[in-house]
Amino acid sequence: MYRTNTCGELRLADAGREVTLAGWVQRVRKMGSMTFVDLRDRYGITQVVTNVERDAALQEAASHLGREFVVQVKGTVAERQSKNANIPTGDIEIIAHEINILNRSEVPPFTIEDDTDGGDDLRMRYRYLDLRRGAVRRNLELRHSMAFEIRRYLSEQGFLEVETPVLIKSTPEGARDFVVPSRMNPGQFYALPQSPQTFKQLLMVSGFDRYFQIVKCFRDEDLRADRQPEFTQIDCEMSFVDQEDVLQMFEGLVKHIFKYVKNIDFTDPFPRMTWADAMRLYGSDKPDTRFGMEFVELKPLTEGSGFSVMDSAEYVGAIVAPGCAGYTRKQLDELTEFVKRPQIGAKGMMWVKFEADGSIKSSVGKFFTDEQLRKWGEHAKANPGDLMLILCGATMTTRKQLCELRLEMGSRLGLRDPQKFSCLWIIDFPLFEWDEETQRFYAMHHPFTSPNPDDIDKLDTDTGAVRATAYDMVVNGNELGGGSIRIHDSELQDHMFRLLGLSEADAQYKFGFLMNAFKYGAPPHGGLAFGFDRFVAILAGLDSIRDTIAFPKNNSGRDMMIDAPAEIDRSQLEELSIDVVLPSAENESK
Ligand code: ASP
Repeated sequence: MYRTNTCGELRLADAGREVTLAGWVQRVRKMGSMTFVDLRDRYGITQVVTNVERDAALQEAASHLGREFVVQVKGTVAERQSKNANIPTGDIEIIAHEINILNRSEVPPFTIEDDTDGGDDLRMRYRYLDLRRGAVRRNLELRHSMAFEIRRYLSEQGFLEVETPVLIKSTPEGARDFVVPSRMNPGQFYALPQSPQTFKQLLMVSGFDRYFQIVKCFRDEDLRADRQPEFTQIDCEMSFVDQEDVLQMFEGLVKHIFKYVKNIDFTDPFPRMTWADAMRLYGSDKPDTRFGMEFVELKPLTEGSGFSVMDSAEYVGAIVAPGCAGYTRKQLDELTEFVKRPQIGAKGMMWVKFEADGSIKSSVGKFFTDEQLRKWGEHAKANPGDLMLILCGATMTTRKQLCELRLEMGSRLGLRDPQKFSCLWIIDFPLFEWDEETQRFYAMHHPFTSPNPDDIDKLDTDTGAVRATAYDMVVNGNELGGGSIRIHDSELQDHMFRLLGLSEADAQYKFGFLMNAFKYGAPPHGGLAFGFDRFVAILAGLDSIRDTIAFPKNNSGRDMMIDAPAEIDRSQLEELSIDVVLPSAENESK
């Protein structure tokens, strides 16, 4: 037997027992005649002690153990003199009488402790060592319990987990496809699924009325800090449901996870907000509702002052930062710099201080009387001591900028506690999004999303105003997931494809299989998908999904550890009938 116990298991009640542990040497400390070894495994750390009086040779051997050596220790559990309240095994130590080196280790490139000295790149290159760190391991443990609870809840609700293929034809979810050449069909390619969307709809046609899958999805997009080219969804679909049924079912799932994984009981229904309200009040379709600071529209109150910046703006919006009237010039300048960053792009920021003594100071004091500014304050329900921050410009652009400013103020004021969770549904999304560049409509969710039945008559006449039967679940300013009621009628689906600029031939080529299936009795159906990595990150209090994934890719889509992507052999290319033409430096710079 390699071990009788794990390194996280033994307690004071075990004192006197003979045990065998196995694990990695985290640290060796020599103190006079004693040598202490911290032995680590997945379950914890146990202190092992040797001393000269008891066994000089063993003490000497222990002193020479290197970091990350794999060792087996036999010894007696004893009460510790100086206890360590920070770890569960801190009351005991193992008085060793035998230490066997099972394997040696080179000196690791960074210290394998919660606070490591390893930078991101190094940790990614040696991910297998990084995963030994408790901080990273705990995320995977959380991920496991969440997956377990998801399966439990959905199985109890009668959902079947069905696997769908990975080598498929394109599924449009708004990103580029990863493609895989087919050797047996030269010149032809599979696409990796951006989601199992069409398959889960086909399963509904097949009569599997409650489907789910914890599934890998692939999207070849430019990677922002929190995206991965392969990521995991909790993908779900149901038949004979309307939007209300879907929201109830999956609100139940989210509540179940919070309850059984985080011990947080959400008893009230999650709030629901229309997309239009979310944009109006927060400038975002994924508002962080852990705090208020909702937008206030000032345009009607600013009209006709002769201040051209505001007069010419389509939209004037403000937020009120409670208790911030004391902000210094420097703090206000910092906020102005913040909104002027290229990623945010505001031209400037205006402010009004409603001082505690009732007086008013403002960057636009030249153009407005105190009386006028006071009206702004009343309209925005500002209290004495509050600071109003104002942006203006084109409506949608300014709202997005104000959204960033609001989040920044939320962070500065400590209102975005990662241990506090605020969940809501966003509903009534528009069905289409107009793209100025290509001068055409795109599906805001995806082309299979059903229009709101009340808006169907507007499809051709007021296309941009048609609402979708689509919904997103938002938690703490993150889109946790989203879905829709689907079109199940092949004629309406045809119509939709036409509005999206797909010719009949194109639609047939790309989605013929789905359109055909719909001819054989497609039930009304709908569903959604949650981003599993994101869900884990939110519960773990992480900003990025990267550390919720065992072997993630970096921001250039590269696996630093196995060094992928990589070139393949000439012979492999030939087999695939593929010739690689790399862009020349000249073409690339164009
Ligand atoms: N397939 C969709 C997505 O990946 C989710 C859904 O509509 O069920 O966003």
